[in-house]
Amino acid sequence: MDREALDRHVLEVRGCRRCSTVEPPPILAPPEVWPRVMLVGQAPGPKERDLGIPFAFTAGSRLFAWFARLGVSEDEFRRRAWICSVLRCFPGRAPQGGDLPPGPTEMANCRPFLDTEIRLLRPLTVIAVGQSAIQTLLPEPASLQDRVGQLFTVEREGHRMEVIPLPHPSGRSTWLVRPENQERLDRALALLAGTQGWREGFGGPSPTLERSPSTDSETGQKTRTK
Ligand code: SF4
Repeated sequence: MDREALDRHVLEVRGCRRCSTVEPPPILAPPEVWPRVMLVGQAPGPKERDLGIPFAFTAGSRLFAWFARLGVSEDEFRRRAWICSVLRCFPGRAPQGGDLPPGPTEMANCRPFLDTEIRLLRPLTVIAVGQSAIQTLLPEPASLQDRVGQLFTVEREGHRMEVIPLPHPSGRSTWLVRPENQERLDRALALLAGTQGWREGFGGPSPTLERSPSTDSETGQKTRTK
């Protein structure tokens, strides 16, 4: 566990302004303990950008309701899991409404951050939420139906981890309307609960993730009010 390297990484991410097309700041809210579980989403939305917290709005409510079914509250998940995304900045609003999807150039710019986190944190379980995250971790083309409800073992950055794909919890997604896709989600959650990372991450104490005062002082993070 290299906490100084992780502190440096967090500051680097939060200070990044490499892409001119996105709306900073980059969103990253490290947990309190050294995480065994990593969650990779698509990108922050405008609420997340304003609050400085990932999954801070309706999609987050739906996502954390899934984990509550496994006995882990939102607070507990945020305290013990590393939550990040394929794109760390809000991509902006689409002219036709909704949020823009992450662009390929911006994703390529942001990709090294994820690789660094996998190398530093060595998560046992990675939850890939939505197709952008799934395709980043499992590059072979496949539909959501062929991904959700299965467990994949992935080797990356010299590290082996279990990857559980989940659908994006956005209310705009109609994928979960179909009963067979709900069953896929149920299977995925059951698989997630059985992974080593989930059992170690939420089944007992983990080492505290001490961060230097300078890390927090430069975050610009706002306290979330519920
Ligand atoms: S999207 Fe990623 S690479 Fe681009 S400015 Fe934000 S943090 Fe940097």
